[in-house]
Amino acid sequence: MLYRTVPKTGDNLSILGFGCMRLPSTRTGGIDEERATRQIRHAIDGGINYVDTAPVYHLGKSEQVLGRALAGGYREKVRIATKLPHWSVYERADMDRILDAQLKTLQTDHIDYYLLHSLGRSSFEKLRGLGVLEFLDAAKRDGRIRNAGFSFHDNLSAFREIIDAYDWQFCQIQYNYLDEQNQAGTEGLRYAAQKGLAVIVMEPLRGGNLAGRIPPSIQKFWDEAPLRRSPAEWGLRWVWDHPEVTVVLSGMNDEAHIDENLRVADSALPESLSGDEHVLIGRVRDEYRRLMKVGCTGCGYCMPCPAGVDIPGCFASYNSHALFPHDRTAKFQYIGRHGGLIGDRSHAGLCRQCGKCAKACPQHLPIPSLMKDVSKEMEGMMGVAVPVLRGVLWCVNRAGRVRRAITGETPHA
Ligand code: SF4
Ligand code: SF4
Repeated sequence: MLYRTVPKTGDNLSILGFGCMRLPSTRTGGIDEERATRQIRHAIDGGINYVDTAPVYHLGKSEQVLGRALAGGYREKVRIATKLPHWSVYERADMDRILDAQLKTLQTDHIDYYLLHSLGRSSFEKLRGLGVLEFLDAAKRDGRIRNAGFSFHDNLSAFREIIDAYDWQFCQIQYNYLDEQNQAGTEGLRYAAQKGLAVIVMEPLRGGNLAGRIPPSIQKFWDEAPLRRSPAEWGLRWVWDHPEVTVVLSGMNDEAHIDENLRVADSALPESLSGDEHVLIGRVRDEYRRLMKVGCTGCGYCMPCPAGVDIPGCFASYNSHALFPHDRTAKFQYIGRHGGLIGDRSHAGLCRQCGKCAKACPQHLPIPSLMKDVSKEMEGMMGVAVPVLRGVLWCVNRAGRVRRAITGETPHA
């Protein structure tokens, strides 16, 4: 296992992190705890020292399973990363209450890497208004957390603003060879590294899509490569080739994949891909782009939209859906991110056809008419799904408040 150093602290982290968002499941849909525990411990025995979870993963069960899996001496061998869900925070006391509950669930007295989960501009502003930066300072002072960071899903300018707003030790971004100019992208990666932040990468294989069912015209490129590597290995090596990357998270739940990833993490040094290998990956990227419906590069020149549409974000989901129609994740993510479930509404259906964006687009995309296509394809169920999901979230939060009122449980001051 190779390790890379966190610039601000000197902490050495394994370049492969274990993501606990897709743990192996039983036939009835719960976590197969025995198998998950075996896998987590096997990965730690193989050199992994960074494990990542969140309250929302597996509907709250991921933290519980991880806490138990790390018993018997494994806790001491790893850094635990978990996250504060901004959608469950209504006041400052919620932050302390959630963190204290996480410490209990994870059976530890501190979280090594604590993230504000899935930040964008508006969610960060909301949390900041509620005192989240003071909360992070206090939690670091009293030892409940060691390092403060955030995970991110918005555009580059929002990323820079959040980076500049606090003395973060690390951040977590979506990054893979298809997302060089999407969300934080390569420019954001370099910006964070220049500021001394460790960068944790999520979705190195776009939720497994770059390694699962591969379109035939893409597979042809991989088959013709002089070196036989799986699409997953090519994808991971591409991310690790960037010296600015510290840890790559993989949501692993299959023993063979864990062993393959551990093997690759033994030799994936920064800048170790050859020029020819970069050319090959570039061809694969070009082919993916050819297959995509919209040639949006994610540059953001069309933004901001006066109607509030996240134009590159909508196109990214639309393209993911077109490339991998068998996978419904893109539609769910679209509804979650753009439908107003988490943060402000920014979906294509808000477009007023003003045409301002099209004048600014270097790719000369007919954005207003494309917005109609995106809305038609992606928003069929949104009118029903968003109120229902919002209601579910409200009930879950409300139930917690009622329980605390009955039991007399008080939030940490
Ligand atoms: S045409 Fe639509 S997407 Fe483009 S700027 Fe106007 S409202 Fe926004
Ligand atoms: S300007 Fe064009 S290419 Fe750039 S993000 Fe907007 S739609 Fe995409």
